[in-house]
Amino acid sequence: MKVTYPHMGNMAIGVKAMLEELGVEVVLPPPITKKTLTLGTKYGPEFACLPLKLNLGNFIEAYELGADTILMAGGTGPCRFGYYAYVEQEILKDLGINYDLLVLEPPERNIMEFIAKLKKITDNKPIFQVIRAVKKGFLKIKAADEIEKKVAFFRAREITKGATDRVWQEFLQNLNRAREEKEIEEAVNQAVVALARIPMDLARKVLKIGVVGEIFTLLEPFTNFNIERYLGNLGVEVQRTIYLSEWVNDHLFLGLFKNYSRHKEIVKEAPPFLCHFVGGHGQETVGGVKYLKKQGFDGVIQLLPFTCMPEIVAQAVLPAVSEVEDIPVLSLVVDEHTGEAGLITRLEAFCDLLSFRQKGGNHEKRRISGN
Ligand code: SF4
Repeated sequence: MKVTYPHMGNMAIGVKAMLEELGVEVVLPPPITKKTLTLGTKYGPEFACLPLKLNLGNFIEAYELGADTILMAGGTGPCRFGYYAYVEQEILKDLGINYDLLVLEPPERNIMEFIAKLKKITDNKPIFQVIRAVKKGFLKIKAADEIEKKVAFFRAREITKGATDRVWQEFLQNLNRAREEKEIEEAVNQAVVALARIPMDLARKVLKIGVVGEIFTLLEPFTNFNIERYLGNLGVEVQRTIYLSEWVNDHLFLGLFKNYSRHKEIVKEAPPFLCHFVGGHGQETVGGVKYLKKQGFDGVIQLLPFTCMPEIVAQAVLPAVSEVEDIPVLSLVVDEHTGEAGLITRLEAFCDLLSFRQKGGNHEKRRISGN
């Protein structure tokens, strides 16, 4: 069995560590490129959201490298994601690509359900080995999130452009190589020391922008044109409302680590604008705006793929949230037709607007929301 799974930001590092600890051979798709997108767009349904198309592209490229089994997460609720694994398998079958499919449905009661499912797909490995593998994968994802948050702070204040990114890339390589828990800790410590050595302009007045929206678009830099790096290089500190380790703790571990995730705190802020679950992270997007305003952010960007149902619902109420909370919100919709130049123009205009407000410009006339 040669297992592959789709890319989504730094997820590959954690899942690879977990599967290899369980003795599963992993065939990672190459990093997402235009070729991946072209393949997914060619064979995916036109109105499917971008994650489905990029998953398809990943699987076609991984098949060429010898993968024979797909590992995918399942899901429930109003978003289409829950049946994507099956739809993707059928599309691939029509292309003559026959994959076995393993779908990990999210547990309903506790983390042991998730462990039991993993045990089943890994040839009934002993439970302690499965727990150790899950822990290792989680520690890697958590380490990546921890350093990524620091990177956002340093990138916005570095004096030599690119210095922070060099540390970040080196850290990711070290993290990928780390075999033991101790080596993961070492990779984190090395990155923290290297970041602290970067010459910084701490007096620089930076803008703080929060990014909310659909999880795949938020976490996968190819999909969002590496918006965090782009804004960071403009001197903007960027934080997201979704980090993978928080998502894993909420959805796969069912909140095992108390006070680790901000999910509940963020969703609590959604009413009265959106009082119920609409699938995906729609409610979190709405609550995220108020949450980020309270945290002192200057503006919020919503990222969503074209035709994403939960985020379209959220987008519809964001102008009202922006108005009431007095914080600018920019919604950016991405699909295979999105051009980088157009996106950058809007980001720069948004930053100009936020700088104007930061300097005490007329708030009333400069409040914007929407695309
Ligand atoms: S949340 Fe949106 S983009 Fe993500 S799978 Fe669901 S519909 Fe597609």
